[in-house]
Amino acid sequence: TRLVFDHDVIVIEDLAVKNMVRNRNLDKAISGSGWGTFRRMPEYKAAKHGRHLIVIGRWYPSSKTCSACGHLLAELSLSTRHWTCPGCRTLHGRDVNAAKNILAAGLAVSACGGDVRHSGSARVRSPGKQEPRPVKVGLPRL
Ligand SMILES: [Zn+2]
Repeated sequence: TRLVFDHDVIVIEDLAVKNMVRNRNLDKAISGSGWGTFRRMPEYKAAKHGRHLIVIGRWYPSSKTCSACGHLLAELSLSTRHWTCPGCRTLHGRDVNAAKNILAAGLAVSACGGDVRHSGSARVRSPGKQEPRPVKVGLPRL
């Protein structure tokens, strides 16, 4: 609820939670943290309170794209939690870098209806009737 009240635009990645819990290495971490609920609740509450919820396709390479210069790594193993961009030498934490890329992709969709598809898709869900509101930009503190 706080995420929806504090932010006009929420961008999330369309993760395949059902497929991810089949992975023995991820099963406990994902099931225990309620990712399915975390996905459903902002959708419901954003629609109810007139916020934009943007879903970025699961195939968008958010983890392996440098959020500073756009360099795309050919590969990035799941166990690699930090990496240095060969293009600009920026040191990234995997999840924060991915969050920055997901936010940027979502704001591109929100601002101009742009398309950030790679092999996945992005779609915008918004209520039909709402007043224009200023957009707050940033990663939420959880
Ligand atoms: Zn870079």
